[in-house]
Amino acid sequence: MSSAFEGEGEWLKCALHAHTTNSDGELAPKLLVRHYEWAGFDVLAITDHWVRTVEESTGRLLVIPGTELNATAGGPEHDAHVLALGIETDPEPPGGGFAPLAEVVRWIGAAGGVPYLAHTYWSGLRADQFEDCEGLVGIEVYNAGCELEIGRGDASLQWDEAIERGRMLYAIATDDSHHPGYDSGFAWVWARCTDRTQAAVLNALRDGRFYSSSGPEILELDLDEQAVTVRCSPVASVTLIGGPRRGSRANAGRLGYPQGAEILDRDSSGALTAVRLERPWGARYGRLELADTVGRKAWTNPLWG
Ligand SMILES: [Zn+2]
Ligand SMILES: [Zn+2]
Repeated sequence: MSSAFEGEGEWLKCALHAHTTNSDGELAPKLLVRHYEWAGFDVLAITDHWVRTVEESTGRLLVIPGTELNATAGGPEHDAHVLALGIETDPEPPGGGFAPLAEVVRWIGAAGGVPYLAHTYWSGLRADQFEDCEGLVGIEVYNAGCELEIGRGDASLQWDEAIERGRMLYAIATDDSHHPGYDSGFAWVWARCTDRTQAAVLNALRDGRFYSSSGPEILELDLDEQAVTVRCSPVASVTLIGGPRRGSRANAGRLGYPQGAEILDRDSSGALTAVRLERPWGARYGRLELADTVGRKAWTNPLWG
């Protein structure tokens, strides 16, 4: 259960997947830091391919070193990319082929990092190729670069498949920026942290104390035995996803058509700003997805399950 919405802490806006000239990105590390600082972020993890880029934090932006590693998932022909957030040692450049996913994930954990599998839809991975991987914390539910380039940024299906088969994973949203300005500031994570330190951010990522967004903001979320009540920036729909044939949803618009949901408040344009959704009967898990009028989304981690 994600406890992002209760207890102490402040929300930090995190860019967790970005490249510099140390791999195939366009900006030098210093300039990437300045770019994300100007864009209003609190945290930037730099994730060059096979290079651990270390760059100083600024007064406003906490910079976390990381890298993006290749691994094989379910056979040597299946190339998976894994984010290693917060690692303390440099990766060894691979020799002949890449190591299996489980081995790469184990290395990331031993190096003090948090492993998240990147762009599973873009890579063409199925859930059964990664859901058994011990130590894997989560995947990218949305990768903006993969969406902008070939329309394969949304991995919510792979995420649900893994959870439905009993494997709890958290999910982040990222830019995967290579050309800041063109492909940055599109997707991020709001991490709930008690202080602005690398350790606090990494712990939030390990424990699922965050939600992901490409636009909508969640202002308040209450969970009880019967329902989830959410207050948010104006959106077109709020969905409680609870597995096959299970869920509830409220839609803005002419008829509204609430399914197991009650609209509590709207803005002057009719967009939803407060909704109560019934917990679907028999749902082993439940996660919330909000979509605004131009299709930007927010995704919570599973609220139970
Ligand atoms: Zn990648
Ligand atoms: Zn990348």
